[in-house]
Amino acid sequence: MARLRRRPAAVSRFVRPFALATFLASASALAGGQDGVLEGGAVPATDDWCRGPRPAAFASLERVPTAQDWFEVYRIRADVFAIYEAKQYEEVISYLIVGDEKALLFDSGLGVGHMAALVRELSSKPVTVLNSHTHFDHVGGNAEFEDVWNTDTPFSHASARGELDAYGRATLEPDRLCGELPADVATGPYTLRPWRVTHRIHDGERIDLGGRVLEVIFTPGHAPDSLVLLDRARGLLFTGDTYYPGPIYLFARGTDFDAYARSVSQLARLASELQLLLPAHTVPVAEPAQLVALEHAVEEVRAGTVEPVTTEDTLEYRFDGFSLLLAR
Ligand SMILES: [Zn+2]
Repeated sequence: MARLRRRPAAVSRFVRPFALATFLASASALAGGQDGVLEGGAVPATDDWCRGPRPAAFASLERVPTAQDWFEVYRIRADVFAIYEAKQYEEVISYLIVGDEKALLFDSGLGVGHMAALVRELSSKPVTVLNSHTHFDHVGGNAEFEDVWNTDTPFSHASARGELDAYGRATLEPDRLCGELPADVATGPYTLRPWRVTHRIHDGERIDLGGRVLEVIFTPGHAPDSLVLLDRARGLLFTGDTYYPGPIYLFARGTDFDAYARSVSQLARLASELQLLLPAHTVPVAEPAQLVALEHAVEEVRAGTVEPVTTEDTLEYRFDGFSLLLAR
């Protein structure tokens, strides 16, 4: 996993590309007025990603008070909660989707806070965990739950054994944290607790929560086991890491850009019947039209009609509201 070094601050997921100029200006100011922070693809003089401005979309979201400081919970719809881990570099977002009879937790976060305890605050219904894919930042809390669903792929199997790359082991390094860890969490190497899978999900499967049906659509590409969740009746699409408003990681082991392109095209065809995207990083709401923009962006990258910004390890192709981050 040599390529998975800590990303440069210029492409922190916290900073949406369209806010990059603002961030770089403030980074420059924080660094004592040094200029030229992005010249030649250099990173800002300060690596203080966590002091960047919170994206404006948060201002209109309803915050739900909960017991643990580690999590920020937002009510996106009456029975849909976004669980945001703002204090760690990944800024991962899990979702609790509540039906009349049961609830589905779409990803379980980093495993730094107590996800099961948080979920009990939000719903008393039986909970199933389904992972958007099994990168460490989406599965860290899986071991706290009895009922965990994954795909039947070698990638999912390896993740469930707790396998973790060097990038993942550095999750709790000081420069990836923004604020205090929970009191009972030790600093030092991050580890992933293995979990037991109770059901192997398949493409097209429908999950009935009682009064709410979710459809599973496999979208391999970002990871081999990536999938999205569609609430067709309400026009909601939980996109996992296939789309989020930030630098979309397409450089990790297991990423398949051709498969990603096919998955994105499949999702773009859904855009006209959607009301909202609920992504797994940075901001829990996005416009469905972004899927069409994403499809065009992927086409441009494949056609070679857009120039990337080059860093030591990556090529970043920037578009309006997101970028695509590929390996060099
Ligand atoms: Zn991922």
